[in-house]
Amino acid sequence: MNCPKDHSPMIVVEHNRIALDYCPECRGVWFDRGELELLMELACGGEADTCTADLLTRPEATTAEARRRCPICNHNMRKEHIGQQPAVLIDSCGRGDGLWFDGGELHQVLSQVQTAAGGNQDARLLAFLKETLKADINE
Ligand SMILES: [Zn+2]
Ligand SMILES: [Zn+2]
Repeated sequence: MNCPKDHSPMIVVEHNRIALDYCPECRGVWFDRGELELLMELACGGEADTCTADLLTRPEATTAEARRRCPICNHNMRKEHIGQQPAVLIDSCGRGDGLWFDGGELHQVLSQVQTAAGGNQDARLLAFLKETLKADINE
C-alpha cells in the first residue's frame, strides 16, 4: 500500500498483534478498518462495533488542509477531529476503509497522551499509537 500523502511504499509495523501501515518518508500511519476493530475490542470490549463506527463517522471538520485519497478505495477522505486539547485532525475514509494520521499530527498525539488520563476510545487509540511508535519505530 502507498502513503496517501507522498505515495511512498508503506511498511507494516506490528504491535500487540495489531498491524499498522507506516510511511518512513513522512512518518504517517494508516489504520485499516480491521485493525481499528481489533484495537477497539481492546479499548471498548463488547462495544467495539459502536466505538469503531463512532471513530469512522465523526462530523466533518472545517480545515484548509489538503484532502488525501484513501489508499484502499482511492476516494477523497473526510477530515475529522480526534481527542481533545488540542484535537488532532485526521483523515477518514467515508466508505469506512480506515483512518490516516499525518506524521505531524502524530507528534501532537504523542504530547497529548502524556496528559490524557483516559478511559475513552480516543485516549486508548492515542495511547496505543504512542506505544507502537515508541516500541517499533523510534530507534
Ligand atoms: Zn508518507
Ligand atoms: Zn476508502
